[in-house]
Amino acid sequence: MGIDLGGTTVKFAILTKDGEIQQKWSIQTNILDEGAHIVPDIVESINRHLHLYNMSAEDFLGIGMGTPGSVDRNKGTVVGAYNLNWKTTQPVKEQIEKGTGITFTLDNDANVAALGERWQGAGDNASDVVFITLGTGVGGGIVMENELLHGAAGCAGEIGHITVDPNGFECTCGKKGCLETVASATGIVRVARQLSEEYAGPSTLKQRLDDGEELTSKDIFELAEAEDPFALMVVDHICFYLGLACGNIGNLLNPSALILGGGVSAAGELLRSKVSNYFKQFTFPQVTESTQIKLAQLGNDAGIIGAASLALKLER
Ligand SMILES: [Zn+2]
Repeated sequence: MGIDLGGTTVKFAILTKDGEIQQKWSIQTNILDEGAHIVPDIVESINRHLHLYNMSAEDFLGIGMGTPGSVDRNKGTVVGAYNLNWKTTQPVKEQIEKGTGITFTLDNDANVAALGERWQGAGDNASDVVFITLGTGVGGGIVMENELLHGAAGCAGEIGHITVDPNGFECTCGKKGCLETVASATGIVRVARQLSEEYAGPSTLKQRLDDGEELTSKDIFELAEAEDPFALMVVDHICFYLGLACGNIGNLLNPSALILGGGVSAAGELLRSKVSNYFKQFTFPQVTESTQIKLAQLGNDAGIIGAASLALKLER
């Protein structure tokens, strides 16, 4: 079973060992009372659905879950998941195993999405894959030689904090010019606003910004798709930053694929091809030839599928 725990919904899926989704459902995340209802709600929902599907704990290899916050994988605890109102350490593994009788394991949400795309999506189940999620923030996960990288403090794959402009915008992490400040959904709009101050030519995007309209990154990509000259300039800037970050990742890790996912990646081939062009500019020949920039394929299912793949490891 795979669980994708988010700030608004908890998604669940029951999968075969080959990664095929058999059942899928979701519940709302109740973050009231410092998130005290979240784990009991998950346990209740699992037990109710097992009953519904006429299944029991013995039918499962295990449960894997992706969660926001800092994860202690050995203890099975989570701390600092602020969008869940979890400020103190939560003994998630202990509570879920006790409540369901099924072995449980967890990892952070970006890592889990990386596992999902690598296993059943754009990664073609290759041994070396990097996943970048472009949404309200920018995150990532790195699979090298078939294993997720975690690092000394569990921070490996924090691609959003790669510096792409040392004099750039301030980031929530306290430093300047992180990829997240320019390539997240809000970052893209921020770049558009900054560039619009200097742009003089005709442009619908420029006009709408000057009129004080609330624009989204989706609007900007749509206008670029319609060949608005200023929107194209903004998109080119964003893709330069992404291509620079991807180039550095490529030179360092040489994965077979760098996969772009998250809401912003809905921009599709326009985004992919431009990032790929800059990527080629910033990588050395062997990497340019062997590392591909790809678009994610699983959308919202990457999390539950990757989470379930964590449970396969419990079998060993
Ligand atoms: Zn940062």
